[in-house]
Amino acid sequence: MIKYTHGFIALIVFFFCFEVSSKPSSAKLQTKSFAELPAKLEIYKKAVLATYDLKLLPNLKILEQEAQAASNAKVQAEALLLVALLKHRYGDYRESLALNQAALDIATELKDPSLLISVYLSIVRLEVSLERFKQAKEKMQKIDLLAVQLPKVSTLRSRICLWKARIYFSQGSYLQALYVLDNAISKPNMSKDVFVELLIEKAKIKLNLGDHIGAQSLVDQITQYNIGTQQHYTQLMIKVLQAKVFLQAGFFTKAILTAQDGLQSTFHTRFLEEQAQLQHTLASSFAQIQDYQWAHLYLKRYAFTQKALDLQKRNNKLLQLEAKFDFEQQRQQLTLLEKDNALKQQQITQQKQAIENTALLQQRIILLVVLFFALLFFMYWRWQNKRTLKMLEQQVAERTKELAIRNKQLQAMSYTDSLTGAYNRHFIFTHIDEYLPHESFMESTILCLIDIDHFKSINDTFGHSAGDGVLKSFVDLLKHAIRQNDVIIRWGGEEFLLVMPNISREAAAEILERIRVSIESHSFTENNQNIAVTASLGFTPYPLLRDSIILDWEQTLELADFCLYSAKHGGRNAWVGITELHIDEPIAADTIIKDAKRLVKQNKLQAISNREDIINSL
Ligand code: GH3
Ligand code: MG
Ligand code: MG
Repeated sequence: MIKYTHGFIALIVFFFCFEVSSKPSSAKLQTKSFAELPAKLEIYKKAVLATYDLKLLPNLKILEQEAQAASNAKVQAEALLLVALLKHRYGDYRESLALNQAALDIATELKDPSLLISVYLSIVRLEVSLERFKQAKEKMQKIDLLAVQLPKVSTLRSRICLWKARIYFSQGSYLQALYVLDNAISKPNMSKDVFVELLIEKAKIKLNLGDHIGAQSLVDQITQYNIGTQQHYTQLMIKVLQAKVFLQAGFFTKAILTAQDGLQSTFHTRFLEEQAQLQHTLASSFAQIQDYQWAHLYLKRYAFTQKALDLQKRNNKLLQLEAKFDFEQQRQQLTLLEKDNALKQQQITQQKQAIENTALLQQRIILLVVLFFALLFFMYWRWQNKRTLKMLEQQVAERTKELAIRNKQLQAMSYTDSLTGAYNRHFIFTHIDEYLPHESFMESTILCLIDIDHFKSINDTFGHSAGDGVLKSFVDLLKHAIRQNDVIIRWGGEEFLLVMPNISREAAAEILERIRVSIESHSFTENNQNIAVTASLGFTPYPLLRDSIILDWEQTLELADFCLYSAKHGGRNAWVGITELHIDEPIAADTIIKDAKRLVKQNKLQAISNREDIINSL
């Protein structure tokens, strides 16, 4: 409620001031340019200290804004201090404290020692009003540290002394206060305003000590300085001091007149403390002259003023409590925040750790996946390689097989007569060993030459192609007639070699007879014409002797050719064969072949035939 009342009053005062500031009379206080800011500040400073007039507030606000716009931080800070002083004077401690704080921020940034001292002094003023002497002294210590940078003699140093004295005075240390003040007063070259303030302060102490003579001389000293009518506060203080001096000196009427005069000047002002002192002096003076009615009246007024002051003080106390409470709350919040921060920090650290762990895990997983795929690829590569190798091997095997077949085919082709399908001469020259006996001569191989009779005339009569057909049919017939292991070779033109391994001479003769008959009886048909075909055969066994080899197979064949010739000569369509050689002494192979006919006649060579006449005609 009190807060709101203050706020409301401040609002009214502000509007009032705004009204006044917009009038032409106040306009002269406005600066024409930013360069005049410090001069303007000095004017306002004097005005504030002289009157503590709230109407100055809007102008100070403008000055502060102008200083801010001109980036003149020092003037801005001092303007703030003046506003703070006015607010303080009118009981708005909270606002005053905030303004001082703002000024302190600027001064701290500027690092200007004199400005900093001014701000701290302003705060000290507040602390003293709030009776927070401990804090006030702390500020004074800061001021003392900064004051080292000030010149030995200066107005600011005197003001520092003034405030030290005020603290001592407020705490009842009058003598210490006096000591400080005397020290300051003894210094030359200070401003008149501060000097007067020092004197006033000293006079107050003297009065409190009961030294009205000392106080009177100080009042006299003050009045010597032409105090202008503008300086309301100083004028009023002189009145207060004078009235008190008169009271203490026993000049009650003078005291009453002076006090009443002083009181008159306090109407419509906020100099409550001075008002109270004057009212008290009046009450005391009236009591002394036994005018109790007036004494009672002023005592009552004094009580009212004191009540207002008390209210102000109580508000201040409340403010202190609030501030303390706020501070406590803030401290609690701070502690909570710190705890919260620590918790968050811990959470962040945990989260960081978790993120790092996840990243590590991810890296490991990626590594494993990469390894897995690499392994998979390697295995696939190996499998593919093996498969390709297998395929290649298979292909090679197939090709080899194919090649073998082709080779076999080629070989077969190279061994085969293309017209008849019988083997050719090349075959027998390479394979003859397979058909000849080697170890035991119990069985022998029969080499037989077969020649178609009068084949020339077949060609001539039926044509060459019919002759070819006859040749084919002739071979087919032979193939049917021979045994499984026997082999037929086209020896030349229409002449064939029949090789019959592992056969006796008698069995061979039987087979050859069967062949001769089957040729003779077979009806060869070419171009729908029947062709009568017969063949002559001559054979010799290998080996000719049963216990040793006297003729090689080619010589044996020559002997077979002799037999064929004999069959042809004997009229054809017959077979002749040599079966035995009977000799007592060794005989050359050549002789056997050349003298075959003679040897047959001598019965050294035993010949057989299907026709007896042929043997006889030999
Ligand atoms: P012979 O043996 O009974 O004394 O009488 P020949 O007529 O069979 O005797 P010669 O050996 O004189 O005749 C063989 C003929 O065979 C000569 C040739 O024209 C013929 N000749 C040889 N090779 C082939 C062939 O591949 N095809 C055909 N059509 N005729 C052939
Ligand atoms: Mg022939
Ligand atoms: Mg012939």
